[in-house]
Amino acid sequence: MVEIPNYLISKLASVGIKTIEELHNYDYLKVYKWIKDLHPSIGKNVLFDLYSISNSLAINSISESIKSAILVEFDQLLPTYMPLEKQLIRNNLGKAQEQADIAFLSGEIPIGAVVIYKNNIIGVGSNQTISKCDIIAHAEIIAIQGAQKHLKSHRLTDCDLYVTVEPCIMCAGAIIHSRIKRVIFGATEPKTGAVISQYAIFANKQVNHHTETVGPLNNEYYGQQLTKFFNNKRREPII
Ligand SMILES: [Zn+2]
Repeated sequence: MVEIPNYLISKLASVGIKTIEELHNYDYLKVYKWIKDLHPSIGKNVLFDLYSISNSLAINSISESIKSAILVEFDQLLPTYMPLEKQLIRNNLGKAQEQADIAFLSGEIPIGAVVIYKNNIIGVGSNQTISKCDIIAHAEIIAIQGAQKHLKSHRLTDCDLYVTVEPCIMCAGAIIHSRIKRVIFGATEPKTGAVISQYAIFANKQVNHHTETVGPLNNEYYGQQLTKFFNNKRREPII
């Protein structure tokens, strides 16, 4: 088996990867980006070495044409940041779910969101479109507005947004404009979702160079409340 060269061991450790097996769990292009974020001076040789290790090839054995192809692929890589701990994701999505519960109990479409900055919640939102007579009052928009007020800035560059259900086009636009770093969502929204379901707005490099999307994390769990809400609506008498 190919070994990790000594110079790479500490760099990989800085992004939480300690063994070759752990390295194989990730896309080598993403790993290179994570290392480069922490160590901006590293050269392309690190990228080529990561490719070699990931493909069980000897270091310094790849051709110039493969190197060119790797660089093209890296150039097309979507925004990516070091992975979040699973427990942290669960906790924060749980906070978003609490906001969805508030919406559900108020008869609103049950979607909730929170904005996290340096491990603190700085914005919360539960969907309020009906009570506010305002189609803009989606959970994500309310959470973003709260975060902007908190930071006294329209840019949320170092913030993550957790939302129970895949954002719509309007919210995806707000997320892009506010430069949110990551969007973590619980369930897909097959009819209006703008992350993967109907559109893939964040995958469009022309409109976005910042936001990484993570999800759906658990369609069954985070989608159940929405399904229940719409099933109940259908059961209501027409007149
Ligand atoms: Zn929305």
